[in-house]
Amino acid sequence: EEEIMHCAGCGVKLQVDDSGKLGFVPTEAFLKEPIICQRCFRIKHYNEASSITLNQDDFLKLLSHVGNTKALVVNIVDLFDFEGSMISSLQRFVGNNPVILVVNKIDLLPKVTNYNKIINWVQKQAKQWGLKTVDVVLCSAKKNMGFERVINSIAEHRGHHDVYVVGATNVGKSTLINRLISDFSDLEAELTTSHYPGTTLDIVKIPLDDGKSIIDTPGIVYNHRLTELVTRKDLPKIMPSNAIKPMVYQLNDGQTLFFGAMARMDFNRGERQSFTCYTSNAIKIHRTKLEKADELYAEHKGTLLAPPVLDDIDKLPPFAKHSFTIPRGKQQDVVISGLGWIKVNSNAGAEITIHAPKGIKVVVRDSLI
Ligand code: GDP
Repeated sequence: EEEIMHCAGCGVKLQVDDSGKLGFVPTEAFLKEPIICQRCFRIKHYNEASSITLNQDDFLKLLSHVGNTKALVVNIVDLFDFEGSMISSLQRFVGNNPVILVVNKIDLLPKVTNYNKIINWVQKQAKQWGLKTVDVVLCSAKKNMGFERVINSIAEHRGHHDVYVVGATNVGKSTLINRLISDFSDLEAELTTSHYPGTTLDIVKIPLDDGKSIIDTPGIVYNHRLTELVTRKDLPKIMPSNAIKPMVYQLNDGQTLFFGAMARMDFNRGERQSFTCYTSNAIKIHRTKLEKADELYAEHKGTLLAPPVLDDIDKLPPFAKHSFTIPRGKQQDVVISGLGWIKVNSNAGAEITIHAPKGIKVVVRDSLI
């Protein structure tokens, strides 16, 4: 008969099967007493929080009380995948509570970027998403840029209430929470003892001096992001680790660009113009004739066109097509969620088709840069 064991730290049911799921313990750790889950172990010994993840519906259910509580909501989004990491139902979720939009990973933008323009762009986009914000803060959790501004904005807007930190997976929420922990707290023990009401989901609470807390929430999984679909091996290839060096291509209509074998852009119609690609520099961009593109893909996917390598090609869903008309005189980006974007420098308009793995969000927006 099997005995069900619980983590001595957070009370979650322990399991040895899936290191990516809640309650995981490596088998060796079962020999030690008291048994704590890997997540509590990391928090206790390394002061390292890693978020649990949930889909959006479960997230909204779990945190449905936030809209009826007085609180400050800090929403972290990824500037490299803005459309992929925005939470579509956030305004409904927060009720009348103030929202700070923390825009992370600004270190990935080219060095010459005008940050005021970026803030204006984000404010405009947030409005289009129906989100009211009390502040927009740019930062890089990894490179430690803008962290002071995040702290100051939280202090300014929280008014003796709890602070809920929310975000999609992979936006850098854990990185930022870990910075907040090392800044605010030396009470490791307290970090493991909180639960969401009525569940065994453990949460990280960073105590504040007025008895309130900064509360980490589960990361929301959005399967419309390429970052959720690629293999672990390919993830660091599609996610840039340093400032992007944009690649500019002068194309005639009837030409195609391949982004490894991850995606493809066809320039169907329009005057000769330039396309600026903001993607990880680890992804090889290959230019070809549109009429040759299908054949090239069939023959060279996984080799000349990589990543992914040949063995991993079938792990991605087949391409779906998205067609767009970029209007005359507009500067727009075509975004492939998780992969980056292509700026269409069009004065005369352009008709293009994006091929991207089925389910991946592909949208057009006003140019970020
Ligand atoms: P979470 O899933 O939101 O908790 O995100 P993590 O904190 O685990 O970060 C996800 C990935 O984004 C990791 O590979 C981090 O190294 C990376 N990351 C986090 N913050 C930044 C940042 O400011 N800039 C860049 N370039 N990468 C970041």
